[in-house]
Parts: sequence; C-alpha cells; structure tokens
Amino acid sequence: AAAAKDFDIIVIGGGPGGYVAAIKAAQLGKRTAVVEKDQYGGVCMNRGCIPTKTLLRSAESLKEIKESDQFGVVGLDLTNLQLDMTKVQKRKAGIVGQLVGGINGLFRKNGVTPISGEGIIKDKNTVSVGGKEYTADFIIIATGSGIKSLPVPIDSGMEVLTSNEALDLAEIPADITIIGGGVIGVEFAYFFASIGTKVTVVEFLDRILPMVDEEITKQVTSMLEQMGVKVYTSARVTEISKAAVLFEKDGSVEQAAASKVLMAVGRGPDLGGIDCEALGIRTERGAIVTDSNMRTSVENIYAVGDVNGKAMLAHTASAEGIIAAENICGHHKEMVYDRIPSAIYIQPEVACVGLTEVQAREKYGDVKIGRFPLVGNGKAKVAGDDRGMIKVITEPKYQEIVGVHIFGIHATDLIAEAAVAMNLEATAEEVAMSIHPHPTISEIYHEAFHAAIDKAIHI
Ligand code: FAD
Repeated sequence: AAAAKDFDIIVIGGGPGGYVAAIKAAQLGKRTAVVEKDQYGGVCMNRGCIPTKTLLRSAESLKEIKESDQFGVVGLDLTNLQLDMTKVQKRKAGIVGQLVGGINGLFRKNGVTPISGEGIIKDKNTVSVGGKEYTADFIIIATGSGIKSLPVPIDSGMEVLTSNEALDLAEIPADITIIGGGVIGVEFAYFFASIGTKVTVVEFLDRILPMVDEEITKQVTSMLEQMGVKVYTSARVTEISKAAVLFEKDGSVEQAAASKVLMAVGRGPDLGGIDCEALGIRTERGAIVTDSNMRTSVENIYAVGDVNGKAMLAHTASAEGIIAAENICGHHKEMVYDRIPSAIYIQPEVACVGLTEVQAREKYGDVKIGRFPLVGNGKAKVAGDDRGMIKVITEPKYQEIVGVHIFGIHATDLIAEAAVAMNLEATAEEVAMSIHPHPTISEIYHEAFHAAIDKAIHI
C-alpha cells in the first residue's frame, strides 16, 4: 500500500480563495495545510477589498459631516474640514490587522495547518516550501492575480501608481489621472474627488463599469461629473508623458494633464511560480483552466480564485474554494457564474447581478423591464440621499428574473436579495408579492417588480 501522505489537501495561496477552501476542507474532515508566502487574506484583505472600503468609509464620513446641516446638526466648525491621511491609514492598518489575525484564529479553531513560505509544486502530490517537501492526495492552487500595466511608453518623470501605492498615500494628491474606468478605477476616482483631488478618468470602452446596465452607468457618470471628475470614454491611451496621459479619441490625440497617474487597467492571473506546463496543467491566456467542479486538467489538482481568470472577485474566489473542497470530499457541487453580484462602493452605491438590458434582449428577445427611482422611496428621503434607481429585467416566458441593477444608497447590501431570488429562479411576481418592510430601501424591489409586471405603486 502507498505510504500515508502528510496531508489530504495542500492549498497554495492564503487569499479568500485559498483560506476559505482550507477551512471548508478541514470542516469536512480533511487534514489540510495552506501555504502562504506573504500575508494570509491575500490581495482582498491586504491590498484590495478591505483597504479600499476603509478609505471610502472615511470619505463617506467626511461627506456626511459636510452635509449634516440638512439634518439639523449645528455647532460644527467646517472651515478646515478634511481627511488626515495619517489617521486614515492608521485606521486602515488596524482593520486589516484584525481581519488577518482573525484568519489565524479560524485556522486554529478548524485545525488547518498554516505553512509560511513560497509553495512550489514538485509533482502532482508534492509541494516544497523552503526546501521542505510535503505530500498530499490533493492540491488546490489559489495563487491569485497581479496588476496589469499598459504596453505604452511611460516617461520616468511621471509618478505612475498602482492600486497598491494609491492605497498607501500619506497625503492628498492635488490631481490624478486614472487610466481605467472599471470597479477599481471608479472607486479611486470617487475617493480622490471626495477628498478634494482633481480627477480625470480615461477609459478605453465606450462607458465606465461595463458590467452594469447602460442606463445606470449614465447616471453614475453624471454623478461623478457633478463631483468634478472629468470622464473620457472610447479613449485609447498611447503614451504617458512627463506631465500628462496622452490618448486617442475620435481620431484626434488629446491629453489629460496630471502630476500623478493611477494605472487601473485590470488584473491578470498569477501562477505563483507554478510550472503548469511541466505538471500538465492546462492554461489559456495565462489562466488555469478549470471545469465547473474547479478541477484542472490534472485530476487531483484544483484551482480557485483569480488564478483561473473567471470572475476576479473575492466572493467568487471563496465560493469556488468551497466548491473545490466539497468535490474533493466526494460531494458533487458545481460553480454557476451567471448570478455573481458585482458591487461598487461609491456613494450612492452601485451593484448588479445578471444580465444588462442589452445582453438580456440579445438572449431572450422581448424582455420586460421594471424601474423605480429612489425619489419614490420614503427611507431614501429620510436618509437624505434619494439619488439613483433600480432596474430589473425579466425574461418573457415565465418572467424569471435575469438581471438587477441598482444605483442608490445601500445597493451593495441590497443586491444580495436579487442574488438569492435569482438563485431560486424566482419570478417578478414572486418578489413583488414578498412583503418588504416599510420604511426600507428594500421596498424598491417590490416597486420595480410591480413595474415589470404592470405598474409601480408609488410613482
Ligand atoms: P489573492 O487574494 O490574490 O491571494 C493569493 C495569495 O496567494 C496571495 O496572498 C499570495 O501571496 C499567495 N501566493 C501566490 N503564489 C504563492 C506561492 N507559490 N506560494 C505561497 N503563496 C502564494 N473583490 C471583491 O470581490 N470586492 C471588492 O471590493 C474588491 N476590491 C478590490 C480592490 C482592489 C484595489 C483590488 C486590487 C482588488 C479588489 N478585489 C475586490 C478583487 C479581490 O481582491 C480578488 O478577487 C481576490 O483577492 C482574489 O482572491 P484569491 O484568493 O484568488 O487571490
């Protein structure tokens, strides 16, 4: 008989894909180790989701105080109101530290063995870390992603930041040009504009936030413009000079002057030094190919999170980690990619799940649309922010929900209801007839689905 392996499962990478896979596998009774060369929590906790939201929360607090007069708050001296970036950074570091420390606690509680160092896969059952070899029946690769850049000439006199440096700024920049109007670019644009920086966004596509419905992105763009953000779309960056970003738009070359540039053109899978070719792990355009069970082309090796290039989101990585652990334990579970919510933490928030109207019309033809503006919602008025709208899309046969897009306060929390409803294959009627508490922002669901069926009540 074969000698017993050191572990049932070794996970390489301790981000939201890897650490969640390890915890789930241990909970299912597997002897599990997780190898991390840097900090547990990965990009998400250390340089992504959590630090960005911490900065944005400070911007939100500043805005609330500036606008507190509308709620009858008096006696504040607003003359020197601004963010102290040193304090903001300290708060951010504190939150990140607590969450990363929390992962170690979870490992202890669940009996996961953390191993520090770079994991190198020697063969399909062996991982070496710092010269020591560990064997396992299964390996889960969760090595994440890295920052992409643009292949254009860059003058060394211009300070070009990535999200890593932008998160660590000790001072408020006077101006910045952001290349890329995806989630990261837009969140930073909003943050910098809120704290007094002059912001320009240059986006290659014909609109920012391409995963969100066109009607909503129009509103988001005009909100950003009202804050003073200059947004160029259909603009192809050709060069970064000493003092500007040069781009082609409508056949002519334009430029956005700036003293700093933020490169936010996306992320690409990071194979973490794993020699996929030698191991026979199939890759496509730099990403590890997986099936719906998260298995690679090598039977006992799985890959979850950004490294498989599928959705590049923390909650996708964690969901895939759970699916991989379940399948390794013999429970057949499949990953479904068309109901993954996206969330953008500007104010008002933006969130969506499923298809845009254009995509839904392509797929289903005559779809039904329900809309409801937040001006018709009592709680939004009470909260002091009734900007934005919800748009819901249903297919023609059963009026099953195929897309929900929200621009409005608390959108990122509200979108979970749509994700659950879509997962249960709910129809417009079923959500419209589900009773939503009053007064809450969630009533916009009830209204929008009534509108998709016939008419909203309060508009
Ligand atoms: P990662 O988080 O990248 O973790 C991979 C880990 O593997 C790293 O810790 C790395 O050190 C380690 N590693 C790599 N190779 C090896 C090796 N050979 N041996 C040992 N360890 C190794 N997503 C959201 O869902 N919501 C958000 O709000 C959000 N905001 C973001 C904001 C920014 C600025 C950025 C950059 C990203 C954001 N993301 C957000 C994306 C999110 O961070 C990623 O999708 C998520 O971290 C992917 O998780 P992962 O486990 O696949 O990989």
